[in-house]
Order: sequence, then C-alpha cells, then structure tokens
Amino acid sequence: MKTWHNNNRIPIKCWTDDIEDECLKQANNLANLPFAFHHIALMPDCHSGYGMPIGGVLAAHNVVVPNAVGVDIGCGMVAVKTSAKEITTEQIKKILGKAREVIPVGFNHHKEPQASDVFKEAPSHIPIIRQELQSAKYQLGTLGGGNHVIEIQKGDDGFIWLMLHSGSRNLGKKVADYFNKKAVELNKKWRAEVPKEWDLAFLPANTEEGQNYIEAMNFCLAFAYANRSKMMDRFIEIFYDITGHTPVEQIDVHHNYAALEKHYGEKVWVHRKGAIRMRKGEIGIIPGSMGTPSYIVEGLGNPESFHSASHGAGRKMSRRKANEVITEEMAQEAMKGIVFGRFNGKYDECPQAYKDIDEVIANELDLIKPLVKLVPLGVMKG
Ligand code: 5GP
Ligand code: MN
Ligand code: MN
Repeated sequence: MKTWHNNNRIPIKCWTDDIEDECLKQANNLANLPFAFHHIALMPDCHSGYGMPIGGVLAAHNVVVPNAVGVDIGCGMVAVKTSAKEITTEQIKKILGKAREVIPVGFNHHKEPQASDVFKEAPSHIPIIRQELQSAKYQLGTLGGGNHVIEIQKGDDGFIWLMLHSGSRNLGKKVADYFNKKAVELNKKWRAEVPKEWDLAFLPANTEEGQNYIEAMNFCLAFAYANRSKMMDRFIEIFYDITGHTPVEQIDVHHNYAALEKHYGEKVWVHRKGAIRMRKGEIGIIPGSMGTPSYIVEGLGNPESFHSASHGAGRKMSRRKANEVITEEMAQEAMKGIVFGRFNGKYDECPQAYKDIDEVIANELDLIKPLVKLVPLGVMKG
C-alpha cells in the first residue's frame, strides 16, 4: 500500500501501482470533497467508474453520495460450499441447462410476481419505491446481464462450490438514478462547493432526501440479498436433484453500499463501491473472472482500508477495447475445459478483459487472508 498526497485535502491510500489516469483523477476528486473523512482508500482491483472508481472506499461525515454507492445498489456475491467432492461434465451441463429454465437472465424477468418477505419492509412512503415496487416483484430471482453469473467451482479444500453474482436489478438502478438526480438539483440550489463535473452530488444524512436515500438504499440491499437467495435456493435444488449433494455453508456479501460505521474514533458513512467489508474474522468472496480462480477470504480488520478489501479482479480494459483486441481463439483458449455456452462474437467478459486475480490478492494480503481457492468448472453468464 502507498499513500499519495497530490496536494489534495486528504491523502489517498492505494493498494496497487497499476492505476489508470481516469481512476486517479476520480480519486483526487474524492480526496477534495469537503466532507471526505481521513483518507480515500483504493483497493487493488480499482478502475474508473461513474464519478467514483470501482474498488474505491469513501468515508464521509454526515453525508451520503449516491454515485459513491453506484447504480447496482447491493450488488454482491453468494457462495455455497456443498457436500460434493466430485462432479462430472455431464452433471454440470444438466445443472446449468436446468438453471437456464428457472432463472431468467439478461433483461428477462419472471412471468409471475415472486413472493418474498422482503416486500413487507418496503418503505412505500418514498415515491420511487412506491412506483417501482410492483415491477420489482417480477425482478426478484433474476440474474441480469453483463458479468452477473452463476458458476460451479472446484475448491482447493476438495469440495464443489456454487457461486452467484447479482444485485438489485432494475429497482436499484431506478433508486440510484432518482436520488442522484435529486442530489444534483439540491447541490445546485445550495451552491454546494462540489463541482458538478465530478459527478459526486451528495445528500446530507440529516435532510429528508438524505434519510429517504438511506432508507431506499437499505431496502435495495435487502432486495439484492433476497434476489441472490432466491436464485441460489433454486440452484441448490437443481444441484441436489442431479448430484444428491446438499449445501454445508453459505456466504453472502454486498460490494456496492454505504453504511454508518465507526472508524478512527468517529461515526462516518462508509461508501464501498466495488469493495467488500472485511472486519477481523469476517468471511468474504473475491471473484476473478469466468475463466480464472475466485477466492473465499477472511478479513484482517485493517483500519487503513476502513475494514475493506477488493470485490474482484477488476476490469483491465473497457468493454469496447475488449471486443476489439480479444479474438474468438483467445476466448476459447481462456475457457478451455470449462462448461460454457457461446461467446456470440462478444468478448467483453473474457478473462483477458480483467486484471490478474492472483496479483490482486497478492496486493492485499494486509487486508485479507485467502481461505479457499476456487476454479471454475461451469459458467452461466447473464
Ligand atoms: P462488478 O461488480 O464490478 O461488476 O464485478 C465484480 C468482479 O467480478 C469483477 O471485477 C471481476 O473480477 C469479477 N467477474 C466478472 N465476471 C465474472 C465471472 O464470470 N465469473 C467470476 N467468478 N467473476 C467474474
Ligand atoms: Mn451488479
Ligand atoms: Mn457486482
């Protein structure tokens, strides 16, 4: 880890040397926010995002920043260790085939509204939640597109693991966009000192809009968790039907959220945008890519990262660049031996588009301890 001052208001602590200009520019903006607390932390998987780097941690005094959480509020991972030690290619194909029948992917949603207790806690007094609630019932238990994924993995602990990446679907996006727009309007009205072009509009936590954002965000976190649980329950059922094996341990982590926590003796809003919370002894998931290992990790509770770690390997190149430089042959080579469908001429999710996960892990051994290394056997992309 290195500390940079760059003439900013507060320092930046960064867990990688490999950082793009745009990402650094965004980090400097964060470090000059009038409400940013103590320092900015950049995880080893960091890359530029909308307003704030993905793989970034911002602690703020009495303020929440919708773009410092991101659009997929509550996006995260769930991993399940099963009792199985072996699985055949035939079984993997069957499981993934069945999963495709019951778990909608891409923009698809369910034909029927899905039942869940999560809807009982919906803060329907918030206009955007009231407006989106009905549609959210059709989105519960759907994977989404891009790098949202379901996988079967082999752990170096000898067990077969199931893993899934998804978030709060369209509900989270609607909430994020709604409150960012509100924040932009209010910041303009207040003549706030955060330049508009930083895309880091904020809401004071003690205002009505700030309170509403926090409440709506927390609902999106519960929804994202319920979304992953529903899919994983269905996946576990299919896995059981085909292998006769059951789950023995389940881990779930959000990697896009904000929470009020105590750091350096003060209560602050910690925004983790593409970062996981890693308190001492806490168990987390750090995925690599569809063709490279993922890790189950244990937190070391390092205060310098605000008890956080990377949420993945992180993108090495933009989707556009990946589609330009990666060929079908390279993609096939990277997925050799892994059960996977077709690329259909799109290579933006290929392993080559992501940083080297083992390097990322090596850069954060003061934040986490790797527990289990998982290698992909079968992948179903959104
Ligand atoms: P994000 O939440 O920022 O969209 O992505 C999180 C991380 O997931 C990425 O940085 C990348 O390391 C990882 N990832 C992307 N696609 C896949 C995949 O298909 N399988 C696994 N295991 N990890 C992936
Ligand atoms: Mn997501
Ligand atoms: Mn994610």
